[in-house]
Formats: sequence, structure tokens, C-alpha cells
Amino acid sequence: MSEPPESVVYAPGFVSPQPPRQPAVRWRLMLVIAFSLCALVAVVLGPNLRGPHRGNNLMACKSNCKNIGTALEMYAVDNAGQYPLNLAKLTARMYLKSIPTCPAASSDTYSRSYGCSQTPDAFSFSCSGNNHGKSYSGFSQDCSNFPQYTAEQGLIDHPEK
Ligand SMILES: [Zn+2]
Repeated sequence: MSEPPESVVYAPGFVSPQPPRQPAVRWRLMLVIAFSLCALVAVVLGPNLRGPHRGNNLMACKSNCKNIGTALEMYAVDNAGQYPLNLAKLTARMYLKSIPTCPAASSDTYSRSYGCSQTPDAFSFSCSGNNHGKSYSGFSQDCSNFPQYTAEQGLIDHPEK
């Protein structure tokens, strides 16, 4: 048998079925449960509340540029070293399923900047517009139209500092 708390006075002969739980303990328990629920909600919803994948946009865009660059090289290998006149040729001939969209702009930002030459064989394109300004906040230069990709240099992910 456990002793009842000192502050509670029982009538003689009364047998308490259970020592009454102290209110402070109950409050602490409820706080712990409430905080646990908040933490759980934060873990589940956190990434969605932080905006549309900020930070990963630039990485995804660079990956798009590499994929387009690789498809252009494959096209050239199959076409006597010549790059296509536009990026649409890559999808028409299934070098790419579709022209990727820059996640920051939610659109194809690459096709309109694409250009190629035949003597020498070269191409270049970029993510057109200032779609990744926040990712380039450490740069003093204008970082519009980056990342870029050229046949000679491959991926150019930022301007020279
Ligand atoms: Zn982009």
C-alpha cells in the first residue's frame, strides 16, 4: 500500500482507491504530449512550409543543364558532329523525353537561349532570366542567365568572382 500525500486528510476509516494524482504532474504530462505533437507536425509539414523547394532549385537546374548538354553531345555523335538547330530536335528524336523545366521558373528556360554554330561546332544555352537570385546572394555581379552550359566548358554554374 502506498502512503497518501501528506496534504490530503482522509476521514478515519476511509480507504482511498488510488492516491490522487498531483495536478502538477498531470500538467507536465500534457505539456510533453503537446510538444511531441508539435514536433511531429513540424517534421511532417516543415519542408512544405519552407516555400517551393528553395535552395534545391539551383541544384535541380544545374542537373537539367547537364542532361540537356549530354543529350546535345549524343545528338552530335549521331549527326556527323553537328549540334541541332534547336532543343526541340532533342525530343523529336528521343534524345530527351521532354525539355526539362527549371524548378525556380516552373517553365522551360533553356530553349530560348540555345544557340549553336557549325564552324566550329559549338553550342551554348542558359537558364534564361533571374531565376536563382537568392542562391547567388553572395555574388556582386548580375547572376541573371546562370547557370550556363557551353560545348567548350560544360556547366558554368556562376559568373567569375
Ligand atoms: Zn534555372
